[in-house]
Amino acid sequence: MLAVLLFGPPGAGKGTQAAAVAAASGVPHIATGDMFREHLRSGSELGRLARSYMDRGELVPDDVTIGMLEARLDQPDAARGFVLDGFPRTLDQASALDALLARRGTRVSGVLDIEVHGEELVRRLSGRMVCREASHPSHVTDAPPAVPGICDIDGSELYHRDDDHEDVIRNRVAVFEQETRPVREHYRELGTPIATIDGARERAEVEADVIAAVLALEDT
Ligand code: ADP
Repeated sequence: MLAVLLFGPPGAGKGTQAAAVAAASGVPHIATGDMFREHLRSGSELGRLARSYMDRGELVPDDVTIGMLEARLDQPDAARGFVLDGFPRTLDQASALDALLARRGTRVSGVLDIEVHGEELVRRLSGRMVCREASHPSHVTDAPPAVPGICDIDGSELYHRDDDHEDVIRNRVAVFEQETRPVREHYRELGTPIATIDGARERAEVEADVIAAVLALEDT
């Protein structure tokens, strides 16, 4: 069982690296942000509730988020493991995940901590576009699509997320520092392997480090 956490502030490149991590590890990529956006699109009650928090860059309440994630991890494709992106984002979420894994006789295999500092996060997110189909990210100047407005990977429409506007981005980064940063310390104290990766480099360089870190976890 491989339970990998992708950790890092909004804009660090977790979504960009997710496909490489999933390919290298052979387990599904599960992103809570994508799950909320899926609920939003389908017009579910959960989607409506999540939207009020997401639009302000706040966290969706733990009870909602934890329940949604636990149901997802019970799906058959996650039986051999998963790469989690955007969860856990609070210490209570981390405890819930640890308890769920303990019930399965296992624990978090490792944390990939992608670090990018300060203004670079704001710059990246304000220019980011994601696709409707699978949230594949592109960037207006850093990684423009071959055809404007169309995802290179699956051909679906690209759009600018409502929470990728400067004031909301700054709040998301502040919430990360306050609520999510302690999650890394929690796993450090548990002795979980943590790979710290400098995310402020070329995409391919970051990807090489991320893949190496996943393969090192699989060897243990
Ligand atoms: P980011 O690009 O900031 O990493 P995500 O797509 O992962 O964004 O998440 C977008 C929004 O969805 C968050 O700002 C938050 O409102 C909500 N969200 C996602 N994951 C969680 C979580 N684990 N707990 C609470 N809220 C979450």
